[in-house]
Amino acid sequence: MFLRELTAPLDHVKGVGQARIKPLANMGIYSIAGLLCHYPRDWEDRCRVVPLRDFATEKVCTVVMVVRNDWVKTGKSRTLKVHIKDDTACAVLVCFNRPFLENQLVPGKRYRLFGSFSYRYGELQSTSFEFEEVSDDVVTDFFSILPVYPLSAGLTQNHLRTIMRNALRQYAGPLENELPDSIIESGGLLPKAAAIAAIHFPKSTEELARAKRTLIYEELFYMEIIVGRRSLERKSMSGAARKQDRETGGGMTPLQKQLVERLPFALTKGQRDALCEINRDMDDAFPMARLLQGDVGSGKTLVSFLAALKAIDYGAQAAVMAPTELLARQHADNAARLLEPLGVRVALLSGNIKSSGRNQILKSLAAGDIDIILGTHALFSKNVVYKKLSLAVIDEQHRFGVTQRQAIISKGERCDLLMMSATPIPRTLALTVFGDMDVSVIPDLPPGRKPVETHLAKESNEKKVYDFVRRELDCGRQAYFVYPLIEAEEGGEELPLTALKDAESMAARLANEVFPGIPLALVHSKIAEDRKKEIMEAFRGGVTKILVATSVVEVGVDVPNATCMVIEHAERFGLSALHQLRGRVGRGVAQSFCFLVYSDELTEDGKRRLKVMLENRDGFVIAEEDLKLRGPGQITGTEQSGYLRLGLADPVRDAAELSRARTDAFTVLEADPGLVSPKNLRISAVLRRAPPFSDAGL
Ligand code: ADP
Ligand code: MG
Repeated sequence: MFLRELTAPLDHVKGVGQARIKPLANMGIYSIAGLLCHYPRDWEDRCRVVPLRDFATEKVCTVVMVVRNDWVKTGKSRTLKVHIKDDTACAVLVCFNRPFLENQLVPGKRYRLFGSFSYRYGELQSTSFEFEEVSDDVVTDFFSILPVYPLSAGLTQNHLRTIMRNALRQYAGPLENELPDSIIESGGLLPKAAAIAAIHFPKSTEELARAKRTLIYEELFYMEIIVGRRSLERKSMSGAARKQDRETGGGMTPLQKQLVERLPFALTKGQRDALCEINRDMDDAFPMARLLQGDVGSGKTLVSFLAALKAIDYGAQAAVMAPTELLARQHADNAARLLEPLGVRVALLSGNIKSSGRNQILKSLAAGDIDIILGTHALFSKNVVYKKLSLAVIDEQHRFGVTQRQAIISKGERCDLLMMSATPIPRTLALTVFGDMDVSVIPDLPPGRKPVETHLAKESNEKKVYDFVRRELDCGRQAYFVYPLIEAEEGGEELPLTALKDAESMAARLANEVFPGIPLALVHSKIAEDRKKEIMEAFRGGVTKILVATSVVEVGVDVPNATCMVIEHAERFGLSALHQLRGRVGRGVAQSFCFLVYSDELTEDGKRRLKVMLENRDGFVIAEEDLKLRGPGQITGTEQSGYLRLGLADPVRDAAELSRARTDAFTVLEADPGLVSPKNLRISAVLRRAPPFSDAGL
């Protein structure tokens, strides 16, 4: 049995009743495999026992004797005080709201204690502690290394530890190894069963380190096996006369030429080069897998439409997937504007389109009456069938998972894949996670773009910023105002001075006090899709002049007439969000401005981020600075979650392991691409029976 084959529901584990199922499900844990893969976020080392005298404000382990219990009155209730001592000192355990401890901490008995102490009112006190009675014949793991788990409401560390212990006892023993024995031996790794047991309840720090190393290596090894296999599979799809008849040598197809001729501007050199590479790939015998990188505003969308036209020219269909409804709709509008005049049939499919309309679209798609479809991930849900999908485009690809990539291309036969991103990918990732992809970069922005002028402004100087924006509005321009919150924080009334500005209240203030009479709209994620669509259309059409928003406008929104981006509480936003937000302006020929308005009390970290924004405009540089400021271990957050569902491994932090895993995996694949030789049967069994990184709920 492989770990991920433990798909039995959680109530098979001793101690898991209905009450525990829900909080576990809230953390995405539905099965025993999911439970065992819920790794600790930290470990509490209780191995070192100190005498009471050596107390510390961090938690320490001691062994004490209870001397007596007494009660003190505080307010309405009585509080239990338990007097304890060891050979070195006396102390008091103050049991707020825990009167029942009277029966559990009995004078004359000895206890193991784990808690933090401090001097208060002249005595050594602890209010936060765990304990366990010492009895000579029982060996417990109270003073051991204990896991600290991510939790959800309704679950305590102790619950989860107990559940985990039971699950390990019931299921971990017979777990099969997933790595080849030779690798386990040569790498000094642990067998799977031992590694899983030790990652949760290590016997020593050395064992913990080995368990981590084992599981990290295993994840990276399979990641590289999957990457390697994907590239082998793609390259083996040649053979059949796929596109031999359509050689254009990277040159443009008729529809592409028509579009380019109709455009009011010329393609940039970067766009031309990227298109040439894409065209060549699409003529090639095996499917394209290309990542198109280009800074915000570099015109990637247009390149993807041109790629779609090539597919359409050959009588096939193209699909363009965006991460949000807003963006999908904007792409659809653009596609309709640019492509319909060429006779291309365009449609939009999103999760929000109601059933009758949706059925009609699905029918047309299956019949081949739609040439290019744009949408959210709804494009690749189960019931969507394409007549002949030959190009899938994924915009803002870092927002999607790897398995979604797979779902998309599996909708077509030998489907070309074009992924786009403005978020530069760190080198280590580019070489590994995307090791099977080719990369095109658009290094230049369309000509005539003036770099966005960036200014920092203190919150107390906001009036100056508003006055500036008013002058731009008077010239017929438009402006964005962005806030970190949708609505006032709870308890905000009690803290009016420190409370953050929120989009809702500021929309009201800007409309009534600052810019009376100027059409203004508010948009954020809680607004219904239909309404959002109207709001964005009004802003795009220039009817609304000011758009007050949260970071929903962060990705992709394209309104060239907007020249002002005001980000309030700018220090609250991460660098990549700030860069994306600033990229919303400077999209037309007029000079644009970005105001980073910061609160009067600014942290060092916030200050550094704003400085980076002030001094840089190249997205690649900003991404590197971001990496530096956050430290490599930190990029595991949102950005990266899109790449892979890694549990313990972090491709940036674990770069050395990653490169070893890659070498090992590729050595295996080169010698035995089909993974059929006896020594590789375990690998193919894992991929078949318990595929890693699958989106299937664990
Ligand atoms: P991104 O790469 O950030 O997705 P977009 O595709 O949204 O950028 O393009 C930004 C804007 O630039 C759009 O308004 C688009 O019409 C315009 N654009 C694209 N290519 C060119 C070009 N070669 N010359 C001038 N403007 C262009
Ligand atoms: Mg874009």
